[in-house]
Amino acid sequence: MIPAIEKASVEEIYAFQSEKLKELLAYLNQNSPFYKRLFSKHSIDVNSIQTLKDLRQIPVTTKTDLQEYNDDFFCVTRDKIIDYVTTSGTLGSPVTIGLTDNDLERLAYNEAISFQCAGIQKGDVVQLMTTMDRRFMAGLAYFLGLRKLGAGVIRVGSGIPELQWDSILKYKPAYLISVPSFLLKLIEYAESHQIDYKSSSVKGVICIGEALRDQDFNPTLLSDKITQKWPVQLFSSYASTEMSTAFTECENFQGGHHHPELIIVEVLNNENKPVNQGEVGELVITTLGVEAMPLLRFKTGDIVQLHTDACPCGRNSLRLGPVVGRKQHMIKYKGTTLYPPAMHDLLSSFEEIENHVIEIFTNELGTDEILIKIVTKNNSEPFIHEVKNHFKAKLRVTPKLEVVKKEELLSIIFTPESRKPITLIDRR
Ligand SMILES: [Zn+2]
Repeated sequence: MIPAIEKASVEEIYAFQSEKLKELLAYLNQNSPFYKRLFSKHSIDVNSIQTLKDLRQIPVTTKTDLQEYNDDFFCVTRDKIIDYVTTSGTLGSPVTIGLTDNDLERLAYNEAISFQCAGIQKGDVVQLMTTMDRRFMAGLAYFLGLRKLGAGVIRVGSGIPELQWDSILKYKPAYLISVPSFLLKLIEYAESHQIDYKSSSVKGVICIGEALRDQDFNPTLLSDKITQKWPVQLFSSYASTEMSTAFTECENFQGGHHHPELIIVEVLNNENKPVNQGEVGELVITTLGVEAMPLLRFKTGDIVQLHTDACPCGRNSLRLGPVVGRKQHMIKYKGTTLYPPAMHDLLSSFEEIENHVIEIFTNELGTDEILIKIVTKNNSEPFIHEVKNHFKAKLRVTPKLEVVKKEELLSIIFTPESRKPITLIDRR
């Protein structure tokens, strides 16, 4: 079941979203202390904003705004909030996002139609391999979405390959929801414990957090590495707490599908102007149907490309290409622009490289420098040469490479203060 609006014409989608936008502006003007102030400061009459194009007259909202005026973004009183989650801010303390009962319902709907994009149906069993608590939104969203869809859920949580396999063999899920690199750990565990993983019940994995495809939709090295061993379909799903909306691929693997009833999408350049077609830029979103904390022209910091050509699945909504990187981590290096994810993907493709950390800093000339620290059992010159050649071939540049002791690197990667492993240090 594809929602009718996704199969509507581009013009119909535009008109539909323009109407939704008007509703949102009236709501914000009534209920949001932050946006009321913004409208008055910039002398914006919300009634004059009639279309998506008019939306461009309103200033963007940044992560810093969200952090500095967190409470002013709430449009409802605290007694209406059912669920509290946090998102890591760019500076200091995390940002709190509250969800009302209606917001949880919207979140469930969002995930349900997203999972449908990837082919999950009522009655399918899905194994959830992500964190459900710790103030994360994602795990809860997946659960609510699967429940709404009528799918069975096994909430195993993150890590513990032994329990994951025990559950797969016991409940025979058709789909997993996982960070793709964790699938390599599952394969490794299966191989060392004589589990016949290739003929398991799993046919597809909804992948989060790491890129499966490059800008031309060819598989990344990580994706290749998984599917060469384990022939499952890997679907990319991109979302964030602030957006409360997911962009998930269909069986054509041509980018994550946009759901027009849930979010307005813009891709902007450094001057906050729309990029030309085919160019990458920063994803800027406006949430639709959010009650507690709607966001207007929120700058996500993620660099993406929009795809507007029709998808064979019949949906006419936009599609988002893979996230190239975070805007703040863009590196200008030897005449090339690059982002850390492409380097992470390349490094992870070498089995000999056990761990790596990418450091970015500014040299005395004021330009960007990259230093990659790796832990490897093979620190022979030919191997290091091979890695460098790979960089040259794939990314057109060769950063500095340094082999370090395992203990040294692990103490950088795993710090008690961070909920995720640290593999990038940006000193600029
Ligand atoms: Zn499609």
